[in-house]
Amino acid sequence: LNRRLAAFGTTIFAEMSALALRTGSINLGQGFPDTDGPEAIREAAVRALRDGRGNQYPPGPGIPELRTAVAAHQQRRYGLSYDPDTEVLVTAGATEAIAATLLALVEPGDEVIALEPYYDSYAACIAMAGGTRVPVTLRPRDGRFHLDLDELRAAVTPRTRLLLLNTPHNPTGTVLSREELTSIAELAVERDLLVVTDEVYEHLVFDDAEHIPLATLPGMRDRTVTISSSGKTFSYTGWKVGWITASPALVTAVRSAKQYLTYVSAGPFQYAIAEALALPDSYFTGFRDDLRSKRDVLAAGLEEAGLTVYRPSGTYFITADIRPLGETDGIAFCRALPERAGVVAIPTSVFYDHHEMGAPFVRFAFCKKKPVLEEAAHRLKTAG
Ligand code: PMP
Ligand code: GLN
Repeated sequence: LNRRLAAFGTTIFAEMSALALRTGSINLGQGFPDTDGPEAIREAAVRALRDGRGNQYPPGPGIPELRTAVAAHQQRRYGLSYDPDTEVLVTAGATEAIAATLLALVEPGDEVIALEPYYDSYAACIAMAGGTRVPVTLRPRDGRFHLDLDELRAAVTPRTRLLLLNTPHNPTGTVLSREELTSIAELAVERDLLVVTDEVYEHLVFDDAEHIPLATLPGMRDRTVTISSSGKTFSYTGWKVGWITASPALVTAVRSAKQYLTYVSAGPFQYAIAEALALPDSYFTGFRDDLRSKRDVLAAGLEEAGLTVYRPSGTYFITADIRPLGETDGIAFCRALPERAGVVAIPTSVFYDHHEMGAPFVRFAFCKKKPVLEEAAHRLKTAG
């Protein structure tokens, strides 16, 4: 293994899912739903397979139907207008979008600012691109993880190539506010920065939180690569259909990298997701409401078990503080939890450079059936 990757080892998600299988635990670690998405969408994939649509290499940028559906979605939800032919690129999940974007845009030695805790592939992809990661830590205060704009501002140097954002934010559940995003946009314009924004949880927002795409803010459309994916929104994480929207120059750059990573993304699922994106609003609100009530079940259970809960405004993760249990080390806690309580969770400190800042935090996924969440909460409460 080369030096760029040696530090990363096995992803925490693979390690913890294997632990869940081995111990027969309830897996609230890796974020994947235990219920598949809409049947009509699955049938659309079956139809595409059977009709021979997408069984041979589809077009490099993605099938026109899906690019058109992505552009229509951005227009309908956010009033953002993108040309499906030059400003949309289909990728193998958001994971490939992140990799291709960083490989295309980062020169060796460039600095990339990322919010910490960060999704683990950001760090690995920045390293593979030869970039240097500059973390800006989200600070827990008043039940939410906050971005300190002065810290963000101070992190920008002449070597900064881009800001890598994520809202709604995994793992903290923070949804960046219009005020925070406006300050980020002003900074990006002032310092002439590119911004890559991972918005895969765009439809998973609760209560009065609102997802605001950074690209909608003044001066941002043409300096922003927006990344999203069908995995979270439609509960088909195994299909790996993602996309970016950006200016023609940025899409062309990212495509240059994508063509040598996967060349194209799997065909039949693209047809199905083109249909999914056109589902009526009731699908999106119904999905969100269901997840919100699951969040409430797990949050109540974790509180009853004695943890301090940071109630998320978005995503399907809850970050909790284990210190009220007399514990301080999330990694040790998560390694012991399967034996002790039959539950698997993710230690948040693996998403930090400043591990000590994340040490007492643990992430639980709530994209599971309510009885599963109730049983997990019961186990945590009685395990002692
Ligand atoms: N970004 C974030 C923040 C995520 O949580 C995930 C989910 N694993 C991804 C990207 C990757 O998405 P996909 O499964 O579409 O590759
Ligand atoms: N996004 C999901 C999570 O954060 C799945 C991650 C993965 O398996 N790479 O848990």
